[in-house]
Amino acid sequence: MKYEATIGLETHIMQKTNTKMFCACKYEYGAEPNTHVCPVCLGYPGALPVMNEKAIELCCKAGLLLGCEINPYSKWDRKNYFYPDMAKNYQITQADQPLCLGGQVAVEVDGEMKTFTLERIHQEENAAKNTHVAGASLVDYNRAGTALMEIVSNPCMHSAADALAYLTALKQIMEYGGISDCNPEKGQIRSDVNVSVRPVGQEKLGSKVEIKNMNSFAFIQQAIEYEIDRQIEVLESGGKVVQETRGFDSDRGETFSQRTKENAHDYRYFPEPDLMPVKISAEQIGQWRSELPELPVQRRERYVKELGLPEYDAGVLTADMATSDWFERVMVHTRNAKAVSNFIMGEMMRLLSEHGLSIAESKVTPEKLAEIIALIDAKTISTGAGKQVFEIIFNEGGDPKQIVEEKGMAQVSDDSALEGWADEAIASNPKPVEEYKAGNAASINFLMGQVMKASRGKANPGAVMQMLKQKLDG
Ligand SMILES: [Zn+2]
Repeated sequence: MKYEATIGLETHIMQKTNTKMFCACKYEYGAEPNTHVCPVCLGYPGALPVMNEKAIELCCKAGLLLGCEINPYSKWDRKNYFYPDMAKNYQITQADQPLCLGGQVAVEVDGEMKTFTLERIHQEENAAKNTHVAGASLVDYNRAGTALMEIVSNPCMHSAADALAYLTALKQIMEYGGISDCNPEKGQIRSDVNVSVRPVGQEKLGSKVEIKNMNSFAFIQQAIEYEIDRQIEVLESGGKVVQETRGFDSDRGETFSQRTKENAHDYRYFPEPDLMPVKISAEQIGQWRSELPELPVQRRERYVKELGLPEYDAGVLTADMATSDWFERVMVHTRNAKAVSNFIMGEMMRLLSEHGLSIAESKVTPEKLAEIIALIDAKTISTGAGKQVFEIIFNEGGDPKQIVEEKGMAQVSDDSALEGWADEAIASNPKPVEEYKAGNAASINFLMGQVMKASRGKANPGAVMQMLKQKLDG
């Protein structure tokens, strides 16, 4: 029998706000534990929450970037549970009236465009961070109460590749939109993954298994692949998939049972009495919409259509925001987009990876790359010399024009110098000359090579070719 997997993701993203969701505590990753806390995020009796306006704005902007409808009226609910990561024993979240409804992510998977639809995005607060050591558990409340939004997809994906493409696109959109830095190592993007399997042709979805709280995209992919195989095996052997919550053991690459539906939590949601509902006007939504940045997919299209770059280049340049922004800054000073793209994809990426640096740390600034390209375009230096200048500046800093002068890298287009080298090459290589005259056009390349060598790479290749042809054809 053939089986089909169905996958849905609930992705938690920590927003880029200065302060927490319902109090004025700062959030600072890596700070001394329990130093950014107050009566509100420690759940002291009587402490009252105050809504973070910036978080609401970022959640709605995320919704607009993902094509959601912004709910004009949304409200807050308490999700009750007893666990030390939430000191007040409930989490403030949005149960039935979230900020954003619907939406979608369009992305290419293995060469095919697919659209994955969203159910909703709601705003909530983050839990504290628990660390389990040698039979004890430590709790750091610095993270408790930080702004967290949950993006819930429909069960519309069918493979680990779908889920990975969806998550990668989601992360990219959130970064471009300035919503979140989405650093998985800092727990800024974490997903719960729902997986079920059914025989192809069966309408009803199979029993769903939820794999909780994963940050690494590679682990998410492994967990989905493992889980699909495991469920098919259960069905093939005549068994039933148990609806349950499973964890992922990254060392073994396997999922394992954590709790079954029978003892699943009953969160007993009820409306939060300490907070007003959120009402958002059409004017406000219009204002936020006007502030949205250009998304990667739009940039990619513009690079191809307006700058004439190949699809491949446009994809590489927009893969992360820092590179794309850097490219944009060079383009302020030049019109030669392809040359900029070649330098970024070639010299820049090679040197950055060799030195373990980010593009922001490069000593070659956008202005300096534009100058190097201008020198090449003016035929003052060859492309090869341009790459050398780039590497010198990358390693030591400096000014392109000055380096060209100091190192004597300028091309020679001066006729008398070229003529000397050309005559010399023709005189000392009778055989290629003969071959060329006998109709073997390629033989001129050898002579060209000789002139370039004599000039130590500084002769202008176009001018050399012209000079040689003149002499041999004439
Ligand atoms: Zn606080």
